[in-house]
Amino acid sequence: MDSSKSKELEERLREAGLRVTATRVEVYEFLRELGGHHSVDDIFKALTERGHKIPRMTVYNVVTDLEGVGLLMCADAGPGRALYEVADVWHHHYVCRVCGTIFDVPCLVGEKPCLTPPGTLPGSVDEAQVIFRGVCRDCSGSEKGVNE
Ligand SMILES: [Zn+2]
Ligand SMILES: [Zn+2]
Repeated sequence: MDSSKSKELEERLREAGLRVTATRVEVYEFLRELGGHHSVDDIFKALTERGHKIPRMTVYNVVTDLEGVGLLMCADAGPGRALYEVADVWHHHYVCRVCGTIFDVPCLVGEKPCLTPPGTLPGSVDEAQVIFRGVCRDCSGSEKGVNE
């Protein structure tokens, strides 16, 4: 583990108002290195495979804590498992209807909320997360595919 990087992550936890624990730093650092979108089960499995001995329930709690202070975000990719990712850059998602792969899409504006709906809303808006759906290039290029 690169200790200067860990220090930086510890600092981020502190700034976000979380008590710094070894497990929180470990999970956060791990997710940053892993990149992408992962369910708690994926994270738990990947951690275990790499020799981290963190119980699943603890992984779940840490992910929830990190999400609660905005260091992780839950990728809104439609129904199914909750998928988490590092929340450094606000962005949207493209979900392939065939293979289910989630691709990051840059934010339309660059900051939240990047969409303002027409008409009156029942309250204030602080974010709008868009899910683009379609068939990804890999799937539309393959013979089996689109109608699967
Ligand atoms: Zn696809
Ligand atoms: Zn994402």
